[in-house]
Amino acid sequence: MSVRARGASPVAMIHTYGCQQNVADSEKIKGQLEQMGFSFTDAAEEADLILFNTCAIREHAEDRVFGNIGALKNIKRRHPSLLVALCGCMMEQPHVAERIQKSFPFVNLVFGTHAIHRLPGLLYDTLVNGKRVFDHQPEDESKIVEGVPVRRDGTVKAWVTIMYGCNNFCSYCVVPYVRGRERSREPEAILKEFEGLVRAGYKDITLLGQNVNSYGKSLANPVSFAELLHRLDQVPGDYRIRFMTSHPKDATKELFDVMAQGKHISHHLHLPCQSGNDRVLKEMNRHYDRERYLSLIRYAKKQMPDLSITSDIIVGFPGETYEEFQDTISLIREVGFTSLFTFIFSPRKGTRAEKMEDPVPAQEKSQWFQELCAAQEQVAAERCASMVGRTERVLVEERNAKTGLLSGRTGGNIIVDFPGPDSAVGTFAQVKITQARNWILKGELAQQFAEASV
Ligand code: SF4
Repeated sequence: MSVRARGASPVAMIHTYGCQQNVADSEKIKGQLEQMGFSFTDAAEEADLILFNTCAIREHAEDRVFGNIGALKNIKRRHPSLLVALCGCMMEQPHVAERIQKSFPFVNLVFGTHAIHRLPGLLYDTLVNGKRVFDHQPEDESKIVEGVPVRRDGTVKAWVTIMYGCNNFCSYCVVPYVRGRERSREPEAILKEFEGLVRAGYKDITLLGQNVNSYGKSLANPVSFAELLHRLDQVPGDYRIRFMTSHPKDATKELFDVMAQGKHISHHLHLPCQSGNDRVLKEMNRHYDRERYLSLIRYAKKQMPDLSITSDIIVGFPGETYEEFQDTISLIREVGFTSLFTFIFSPRKGTRAEKMEDPVPAQEKSQWFQELCAAQEQVAAERCASMVGRTERVLVEERNAKTGLLSGRTGGNIIVDFPGPDSAVGTFAQVKITQARNWILKGELAQQFAEASV
């Protein structure tokens, strides 16, 4: 690789799109590049290698990626030795790889999520042969490669992937096609990584998987997610554990019992419901109905009265009527979500929902979307207002440049801003909530570095 006008080590710019799993994958990519001698930059003009880790979950995300790849053409013209690489979920889709091959000749390397651990070899092939390399076909689906180096972006929050892939085939979702079938890491490997993070001082550790509730089913000695969580919670130290994403079909009472009794497990549950209407849930192939979802929530709230619940919702699924959409509005009021990730349905190539009749015009779906956001704002504001006067254990993340206040999150993942010293960043602080503005809380330091439940 010619290192542009510096004669020093090569420099890489990594841009990550999409979910936390992609963020975790990018940390593995950076770990391998670092071992190869790369340093990192955010400036495209300085880079010898530009790599986009892409997301296929929505059409909008794909369009943005294509737009940004197109913009690299001019940089490549100015710096012909620049290597352009693309990876992630989008690259597992044959129609995308084909389009890159035909329409973006300046892209040097394309690889999918299954090939991340092969990055050094792929880069070598690209450089030595001077040819374009495309490696986007899934390999042995059961394979999990341990020991890939990781370069973590932060020093307070860390992500641990506990399983890969998904078996559920929700009718709108492309994940099982691009990330393959479910496979779980051995609990010993997870425990070892987790202990290392606690020892290194990480305070907020999130366990990642597309459907963590079905963790361990495919292992030779099956272990449930609740058992894994319980084992991790026994690791001594000052930290909190989160996990995502849970599927209501596989969530168990045992899981909520472990959460309630845990020393380090956040009372935060991200449980995507997607819709509050039984017919729509069936069309989505979600394998639960509204009552099953609500009964899980009732049990979880009984075990953890301070539980903060968040969710994902799709507005305007093909064939959804306004009356059915109203069932979603009533569900969010009934549950009292702290926050929601809401999306207007976006057809994904190769999924069952792509072929469904979708008679509701986009403009009408936009109106429903606004209605949902307004309802959720009200629900979140009421929930945050109910916290005023309470003292919360807050993990201080940073000083907010705009307000000058410290900013952190409660165990329930709600943002709290409060005045305090820089030395509090990266620690747990006891904060008395004094004010609620929609879904952001204001507070004051009650007692720092205090022992308290998560
Ligand atoms: S559970 Fe459904 S929505 Fe989630 S990744 Fe699997 S198929 Fe997609």
